[in-house]
Amino acid sequence: MKIKYQIFLSLLFLLSWAAAAHAKLNIVASTPDMGAIAKEIGKDKVEVTNIAKPTEDPHFVDAKPSFIVKLNKADMLIEGGLQLEIGWLPNLVVGARNQKILAGEKGYLVASAGVPVIEVPTTADRAMGDVHPMGNPHFMLDPVNGKIVAMHICDQLCQIDASNGAYYKDNLKGFIKRLDQKLSEWQKMLEPFRGTKIVTYHKTFPYFANRFNLNVVGTLEPKPGIPPSPTHINSLIPMMKNEGVKLILIEPFRERKTPEFAASQTGAKIVVFPIMVGGQKEIEDYLSIFDYTINQVVSALKTKS
Ligand SMILES: [Zn+2]
Repeated sequence: MKIKYQIFLSLLFLLSWAAAAHAKLNIVASTPDMGAIAKEIGKDKVEVTNIAKPTEDPHFVDAKPSFIVKLNKADMLIEGGLQLEIGWLPNLVVGARNQKILAGEKGYLVASAGVPVIEVPTTADRAMGDVHPMGNPHFMLDPVNGKIVAMHICDQLCQIDASNGAYYKDNLKGFIKRLDQKLSEWQKMLEPFRGTKIVTYHKTFPYFANRFNLNVVGTLEPKPGIPPSPTHINSLIPMMKNEGVKLILIEPFRERKTPEFAASQTGAKIVVFPIMVGGQKEIEDYLSIFDYTINQVVSALKTKS
């Protein structure tokens, strides 16, 4: 009887040890682009949940209360910061009551920390309704910033789960190597179009444009977050004609009427740019955001209008 009991105990011990060995770290990312990088670094040691859908405007996410449960069990929360998530994430975090993911804890990561932020306004430029009051929060569309974010995620995973530190560092190395190879490919593809003038719907693409030497000369929105108005469009169209704007970049969630009108008046091409992993079936990971969209941009610029 005693022996049986001991066998039972050792089995129990083995089972709980096996469960612990396979327990994955729960990571919640505010948007799928950062979630995809967390997956690159954590691979099978992490379970990643993204709050924003890939086809949603990251400023205005319909954050379901079910995410409170995910955040309650999270070992790590990754957010972009620069007030991108200000309208929808803070309430979820308060509701989750999870000490591990609060500011200052190692389970909390603001991905924009350490990224060179552009378009930081001075107080004088601040306008009512501007959704970029801390600078442009769409930094993930420069793959070099994706690399910085990957390094942050790796550092923080190494702190939370030191026993797998070598694994995370290895994955980071592999990711950076692939990213660097791809980056020079993408730069070569876009080099013939250096300096091309483009218009975008929202200021989603300045980081992308800066990296690949495209020149954003205007936006369909008069200010970030303020919908296009007839007055603004009426002054934008002659400017687009004068400047010879070739391309209008829009995100998949935008209305099409305004860009189509501007395109019809100016001869510019519209490219729909899925800004998140999963925004298009071909976009399965962070690097394929750029593979997909750069191909689209190149073919739009190649064809003569
Ligand atoms: Zn924005």
